[in-house]
Amino acid sequence: MAQRLRVHIQGIVQGVGFRPFIYQLANRHRLNGYVTNTPRGVELEVEGEQEALHHFLKELPVSAPPLARITEITTEKLPAAVYTAFEIKSSAEGEERAALISPDTATCADCLSELFDQQDRRYLYPFLNCTNCGPRYTIINNIPYDRPKTSMASFIMCDDCAGEYRDPLDRRFHAQPNGCWACGPRAWLTDREGEDLGVADPISEAAKYLSQGAIVAVKGLGGFHLAVDASQNEAVKLLRQRKGREEKPLALMSYSLEQIERYGLVGEEERQLLTSPERPIVIVPKRPGNSIASEVAPRNRYFGVMLPYTPLHHLLLSHPFLALVMTSGNISEEPIAIDNLEAVGRLGDMADFFLFHDRDILLRSDDSILRVVTGRPRQLRRSRGYVPVPIFLRKPLAGVLALGGELKGTICLTKENRAFVGQHLGDLENLETLEFLEQTVRHLRRILEVSPRLLVHDLHPDYLTTQVALAQDELPTLAVQHHHAHVVSCMAEHGLEGKVLGLALDGTGYGDDGCIWGGEILVADERNYERVAHFDYVPMPGGAAAIKEPWRMAVAYLWAGLGEEIFQQDLQVLQSWDRDQIAVLIQMMRRGFNSPLTSSCGRLFDAVAALIGVRDRIAYEGQAAIELEQCMEPTTDKYHYTFKEVEGRMLLSATSIFTQVFDDVVSGVAPELVSGKFHQTLVAMFADACLHLCKLHGLNRVVCSGGVFQNVFLLENLEDRLEASGLEVYTPQLIPANDGCISLGQAVIGAASIEE
Ligand code: ZN
Ligand code: ZN
Ligand code: FE
Repeated sequence: MAQRLRVHIQGIVQGVGFRPFIYQLANRHRLNGYVTNTPRGVELEVEGEQEALHHFLKELPVSAPPLARITEITTEKLPAAVYTAFEIKSSAEGEERAALISPDTATCADCLSELFDQQDRRYLYPFLNCTNCGPRYTIINNIPYDRPKTSMASFIMCDDCAGEYRDPLDRRFHAQPNGCWACGPRAWLTDREGEDLGVADPISEAAKYLSQGAIVAVKGLGGFHLAVDASQNEAVKLLRQRKGREEKPLALMSYSLEQIERYGLVGEEERQLLTSPERPIVIVPKRPGNSIASEVAPRNRYFGVMLPYTPLHHLLLSHPFLALVMTSGNISEEPIAIDNLEAVGRLGDMADFFLFHDRDILLRSDDSILRVVTGRPRQLRRSRGYVPVPIFLRKPLAGVLALGGELKGTICLTKENRAFVGQHLGDLENLETLEFLEQTVRHLRRILEVSPRLLVHDLHPDYLTTQVALAQDELPTLAVQHHHAHVVSCMAEHGLEGKVLGLALDGTGYGDDGCIWGGEILVADERNYERVAHFDYVPMPGGAAAIKEPWRMAVAYLWAGLGEEIFQQDLQVLQSWDRDQIAVLIQMMRRGFNSPLTSSCGRLFDAVAALIGVRDRIAYEGQAAIELEQCMEPTTDKYHYTFKEVEGRMLLSATSIFTQVFDDVVSGVAPELVSGKFHQTLVAMFADACLHLCKLHGLNRVVCSGGVFQNVFLLENLEDRLEASGLEVYTPQLIPANDGCISLGQAVIGAASIEE
């Protein structure tokens, strides 16, 4: 008996080869019917024997094309019709608009074998791609995702390419960026002024210069990289000087996993991440005795590594380098360069050569960075390969636009049950980055067709994003507290509802009392929060200067814990800081001049790092805390900690912990051991505090967020300890623990406020 089924499929199912896949699957099972794109996804009907239908449905989700992401399949039984064949029905213009757009995806295995196949017509062609791979998000101007609406519009397909494009059974059916040597984009090499060198093989020529120690700006998928041979210390040093990037680790790219394993220790989970279609930068421990230049990641135990993700990268890396440094083509803190002319202007002082191409990048997107902790991949910077895949929410929400915080900015747009977090924008401290934010907002609104009803921003009055929100009058605005946003973003990622205990540990967030928060425990849901515990307050002498100069925080904790007299003593540990400067800081704190009060956990890490001689001044955000963690020696010892009840809130004793650190340092305890004790103390203290507060408030779920959770020791041990106490622990994975998550939390809180 023949049966007929109608099937609706939602998710990323358009522009990823889904219809040809269905066509072939139906034919294999001898089913008749049709498949077509609809505004919500893909619709199909299949008719045939019950047994065949059963197998068809079973196989569908398992063997879907690599770029497809199915979020929902619904089927309905219908009376048999009279289909005589299976066909791909074309969809009317405008019907595909609401479909999700795929992120940019690394070159697939099929394309790769063509790239190095001398018989193939695309042999060594740096821009080959197919329906299963290649650029998407960064080349789209508008929807529907169709060639005229991408930066491929100016390339007219040759007959061969057009034939592939039209053939439903071809791997390049409707592959919008399709092209070849005859009709597609091309690469060329220039000097630092952008003057074409006119070489026949620009990639090999660039490789030659790289092997001689030159710095080459390479146009990639989401922007320019600055490349240099990672084995040449002098060359890497020169790059650092020119880029004005003193110590922050530089990312590496190698041709193969085998090569990466010669200088990095790659575990099974890391291997999977490195070879995934997203091809992110993955943090791996350095292999002892490796031959990578020491300047690549000085004073750091880890490398950030990735594999090639475009054909051009594969060709460049096929030359004999162990690894190339591939760092974002930008001046520190500014957005990555994407335009050829713009690149000559902005990168001409840094690069000796430019490897250009003529496929325009319409939206910049940095490399994503992940790290595996407790066996799970964790985002540190979410961008290329992941955006614009949405976070799927527990239920549909009102349309909201959230602008995020200040550092590691992202924006977020909600549409139905999906939250679209945009790519990493950088630190929103200059006009270039702000422009990038506005461009990303326009872009996402256009391709997602969302008309938000509310604009959400951080509570901090001085953030540029706050000023942007308050300067417009298109939408009503809502200010959201920073740590409330942290907690709710992690709730959203895990689909949690109702009240949780939120542990928010970070560097800076504006509190509702005007102080700088950052060591906070909240009882929160997506509507409200109550601050139930926090670190005691200390002044930040000089405000933002105290973030750049951790020694100032050490002075502040000593002043708060032991009083001014301590600085009169002739102690070795105080010698490294200028006495006159200390006196100035004390004056400031005493008068409360430019010394905002803070309960920041990040500042406590900074102060300990400064006191034990790890770092007085930092060259990049979080550096002192990172180096404090990396110098740690394991120990079970810890400091004494206390909880005090003040005005119904629990006060955690940062100052008294610091005083004990000071005593250890004075009595000559090794810095590595002090770091170990300090870490153990925080684990034990927060575990105790959470357990106590969960009991007090009748909760059993703890949600962690904030940049401090990038500390591997703290995350691993706290999660362990809390779970051992019988609590459910939720930690950030899909979205960074750092301020890259703020926009998601803001959006969910904003949407909840509309509902109300
Ligand atoms: Zn491909
Ligand atoms: Zn062609
Ligand atoms: Fe934060």
